[in-house]
Order: sequence, then C-alpha cells, then structure tokens
Amino acid sequence: MPALAARLRFLSRAFWDFLFPPVCFGCDTEIESGLVCESCCTRLATNRLGVCPRCGRPLQPRIPTCGRCQTPFCLDRVRALGSYAPPYSSLIHALKYSHKTRLAQVLGGALAGLVESDPELKGADYICPVPLHRARLRERGYNQSGLLAAEVAVSTGLSLVEPLVRVRNTGTQTSLPDDEARTDNMRGAFRVKSGVDLRDRRIVLVDDVFTSGATLDAGGRQLLKAGASAVLGLVVAAA
Ligand SMILES: [Zn+2]
Ligand SMILES: [Zn+2]
Repeated sequence: MPALAARLRFLSRAFWDFLFPPVCFGCDTEIESGLVCESCCTRLATNRLGVCPRCGRPLQPRIPTCGRCQTPFCLDRVRALGSYAPPYSSLIHALKYSHKTRLAQVLGGALAGLVESDPELKGADYICPVPLHRARLRERGYNQSGLLAAEVAVSTGLSLVEPLVRVRNTGTQTSLPDDEARTDNMRGAFRVKSGVDLRDRRIVLVDDVFTSGATLDAGGRQLLKAGASAVLGLVVAAA
C-alpha cells in the first residue's frame, strides 16, 4: 500500500498547488516550486550595499554617506544585501513571523556569498548571531539571526559562537521615533556569557535588519569589552 499512499499524497499536493499555486516569498509572483523565484534569487546573489566611508554603516544606493556618522558606532563595517524593501523585507518578514525557517537557507546562502566577497569579513575568527530575549525566543521558537548565522558558518567555514545574552526584552526598534530613542532602548540590552574567551578575536555579528545600528552597536560594545579586537556586521537588509 505504500505506493498508493504516496500516489494519494502526490495527488493531494498537486490539487493543493492547483488551488493555491506557490508564490515567491520575495515578490509574490507565481512559481513552479520552491520558495523564491529565479529573479529574486539572482538579486540576492548579486546585490550588495556599499559601506559608509566615514562610519562603516551600510550605504543606501546612490547616497555618498549614511547621514548617521555623528552618532558613535563601534563596528568596523556592516555589510548588507539590500535596502529594507521587497524582496528583502518580505523575505525577512516570512522568516520571522510566518515560520518559514527554510528561507534561512536561501538568505544565509546569499550572506555567505557576501562574506566570501569581503576580505574583512572573510578573515574574521568567529561568526555570532544577535540573540533574542528568552521570552521572545519562547514565543517564536527560533532565533532568525541564529538560523542565518548557522547557515553562513556552514558555507564559509567561520566558527559559530554564541557569547551574547539578551538580558532586557527591548521590544522592536523599528517602532521607535528616532535614532536617539533606539540607542536609549538598547542600553544594557546585552551581556557576554562568563567563561567565553574572545580575546583578540575578530567577530562577525549577524542580524536580520539594520535600522539605526543601535542593536549591533550595543552587542558589539559588549564583545569589544570582553576582549574582541574588532566587530563587523552582517545583515540581510538596511533601512
Ligand atoms: Zn521573487
Ligand atoms: Zn556614516
């Protein structure tokens, strides 16, 4: 009977796809199969934002500086695939809020390509995700940045470490009015676990979205305080 069961499963799958054809999570166009269309895949693999020459934050296309250089920032540089707009924003949203954890493979693969293209990131010792607060982790069941960092680690050979703990449940940064409020919100949000040796290590810190940079800055400061020699950022999209 297993052949019949498989046949029935195939038919019900085909019928389901007929009623609800799969669509790309990036741009909503119909696709034959998979999660992301070819055009979005190409964009993910080839698009990269530049880096602000003054402060190292990501640069939006065709803008010479980031406009935030005056606000202190402890990371050497942050690399992002694209601006926070479709397909990046829709892919991140599906990964975070619709439990489409398989998208971490697609996005992580693109981030790994970005690491390979950037000697600074490629030459780092460790890759480390921005952690969620345990209350948020319990709610969501996974840390999207952790999934992304793990994919990048597998593809690039960088060692995955998780030295940071989020000690304050800070809520979402995007709902705050300005950069100052975001920096205030992140104060004291992270600490480094005891017994982790980060001395003279160069660390790539991974997050899904870069908004003001306050989250990466707060996490980066703790890593530097624990002895890291440099912190570099890696994100899917920058707002
Ligand atoms: Zn698409
Ligand atoms: Zn700048």
